[in-house]
Amino acid sequence: MFQSLQDKLDKALHTLKGHGQISEINVAETVKEIRRALVDADVSYKVAKEFTNDVREKALGQDVLTTLNPGQLMTKIVHDEMANLMGGTTSELNISENPTKILIAGLQGSGKTTFSGKLANYLKTKKSKKPLLVAGDVYRPAAIDQLKVLGEQVGVPVFTEEGNQKPADIAKNALAYAKANGHNVIIFDTAGRLAVDSFMMREIREVHDAVEPTETLFVVDSMTGQDAVNTAKAFNDVLDYDGVVLTKLDGDTRGGAALTIRTVVDKPIKFISTGEKMEALDVFHPNRMADRILG
Ligand code: GDP
Repeated sequence: MFQSLQDKLDKALHTLKGHGQISEINVAETVKEIRRALVDADVSYKVAKEFTNDVREKALGQDVLTTLNPGQLMTKIVHDEMANLMGGTTSELNISENPTKILIAGLQGSGKTTFSGKLANYLKTKKSKKPLLVAGDVYRPAAIDQLKVLGEQVGVPVFTEEGNQKPADIAKNALAYAKANGHNVIIFDTAGRLAVDSFMMREIREVHDAVEPTETLFVVDSMTGQDAVNTAKAFNDVLDYDGVVLTKLDGDTRGGAALTIRTVVDKPIKFISTGEKMEALDVFHPNRMADRILG
């Protein structure tokens, strides 16, 4: 396991303990330690650099309180700054529209279909909604079957139109079906591809225009590091989405992608996915993620 940032900073700053202010000299070494810790946690180098420059400004001249040692003080500054950058507080899903239309976008394998099932379950059990899931992947019959299985598991119907090759038409038909059957939330799972390409982007844009979503959520695998950030940017350029879902945080990553994505696309992270079970979904808390990244 990684050494915690707190331990590293305690070491770097031990001479300051009990007196004085944080000065240019002792901050230089600390900043290097922080940058290294962030890069170890999968934060991109560029974002780590910008971030530590901000932290340096904040730290300089701060009195080392008797209650905190310098390592603790620096860790607190870093933690608070990081939580702030990731939005400060939780960012609620907008479910006020009736029906609320939620479009799920992302690469194949990112965890879109699993998340769609989890979100349906969350809205049904925690928000007392009556969701409808819509299978929009016309290229992979297995994806449709997967959504049907998840829908059954969470007790939410799944709208499919096997044979229809036009996702935008399926979406429109699903909307009519939802209205006729009293569904107040519609979750559109869409097709993904292994890499960003212009065909996929055009298609998701068409679905977006047909649905006019209340919320568009971009799903991304937190284990994919720098690629996650490039994908987040490419999707945002086309969809101008409302929020990000980080998946596979039960894996072996500190989750630095959260900080990088938030900094690069400036969109809130709304949910984190932490496993394959339908209950493994959490609302994103910037404070908790800062704890995790810092270790
Ligand atoms: P899609 O192609 O984007 O729809 O991705 P899927 O929902 O099919 O997920 C791809 C794989 O990742 C599947 O094997 C899922 O069970 C798995 N998966 C999805 N979310 C998570 C998660 O949060 N943690 C873990 N460990 N696996 C996940």
